[in-house]
Amino acid sequence: MIDVVIIGGGPSGVSAGTVLQRKGYKTCIIDKQIFPREKLCAGVLTAKSIKLIHHVYKDLNFGDMDMKDIYKIELLYNSKVIGKYTVDNAYRVINRTEFDNELLKYYKSVGGTIYDGQKNYKIIYDKSAVVLSDGTEISYRVLIGADGINSKIRSYVGRSWKASVLCFEKFIPNLSDEDTIKIDFAGILGGYSWRIPGKDRIGVGLGEFYIRGMKKKPARYRRYFDSQGIRNINNIKGAFVSFGNYVRKPVKNNVLLVGDAAGLVDAMTGEGIYFAIESGRQASLAIIDYLRGNVSLTTYINRIEKIHKRMREQSMYNKFLYVPIFQQISLAYIRKNPQFVQRILDHAVSTYQTGYMKEMRHKRMVRSG
Ligand SMILES: Cc1cc2nc3c(=O)[nH]c(=O)nc-3n(C[C@H](O)[C@H](O)[C@H](O)COP(=O)(O)OP(=O)(O)OC[C@H]3O[C@@H](n4cnc5c(N)ncnc54)[C@H](O)[C@@H]3O)c2cc1C
Repeated sequence: MIDVVIIGGGPSGVSAGTVLQRKGYKTCIIDKQIFPREKLCAGVLTAKSIKLIHHVYKDLNFGDMDMKDIYKIELLYNSKVIGKYTVDNAYRVINRTEFDNELLKYYKSVGGTIYDGQKNYKIIYDKSAVVLSDGTEISYRVLIGADGINSKIRSYVGRSWKASVLCFEKFIPNLSDEDTIKIDFAGILGGYSWRIPGKDRIGVGLGEFYIRGMKKKPARYRRYFDSQGIRNINNIKGAFVSFGNYVRKPVKNNVLLVGDAAGLVDAMTGEGIYFAIESGRQASLAIIDYLRGNVSLTTYINRIEKIHKRMREQSMYNKFLYVPIFQQISLAYIRKNPQFVQRILDHAVSTYQTGYMKEMRHKRMVRSG
């Protein structure tokens, strides 16, 4: 009998497993892919993510990884710069294939077991058991669904749910050592495009609210990638992101959802790694309470209420940036108020020490003396 079986070896699942292992619980992770595996992601870690990573993965050495700390950010509209900022807290760009593999190695070093390349395993919820591809049956006390945006376990937990944003991204070599994150709010509809340099490569991508037919890549995508020097867009990979569409009750019986499976992505920025790790951590703490006594697993929902609140707030504000009629007003505001945006990048996005509304109030107070 295993205490906790975790489906999915991304940051959410591995973080949950690492905390549980350290507290003496027996866990295993089952992933359909073989690690190191590819993961479509710009790979930006904010200051709060870095702090959290050091908290969960004590002594993890970023120095051994392919990473770049970025301090310069430009916001653009139709390739024209509308604001340039130098932030206090670096935005750290990592390579997800390597980063996720390092986290997984860490999990193994604290005694965790990984079954990767599992394409044909079966979950028997009634029996609380998983049967692996080779027929091995593993009984569990709790199951964590950390199986990403297209989660299968989500349908067991009982919500019909769709991801709202579709992204495409391609990596090109960082030949001239670019060191600025560039975010452009035009050229696509209701989303943004990005150019994010890492140590050796630049992630070039875009994401917009999904409408049917977009998987075929509309002509505006070709124009955007062309403007970035990328001619062949046929092999550009896409993935869904949940922009604010989170699962309200991510627990059913002895099964719970974390990370992308629970829809935990910031609806303004698309940041998900922080929420993946934090929800994994909170799930493991709720499970420990549950396994120790008669506390219900639903305490997990209370534990992540702060994240859910953030999801709701960000979903409300995202209209100002991504709905065309409000967007022009917001962009005019951005142009005129560089210091406000600077603080948003340094605090609201990077550290969560404050929020958007608080920054607005702060600005008004400063103006009125
Ligand atoms: C284009 C793009 C750019 C992004 N950029 C950023 C960024 O810069 N910064 C940021 O913070 N976030 C970013 N995100 C979001 C971030 O990638 C996710 O929020 C994060 O990876 C969620 O972690 P997770 O562990 O929940 O899921 P994942 O990292 O997706 O891991 C899920 C794991 O489950 C496995 N799996 C899937 N289905 C099954 C199955 N049926 N059975 C077994 N295993 C399965 C997968 O192989 C995978 O290993 C981006 C997302 C996209 C699409």
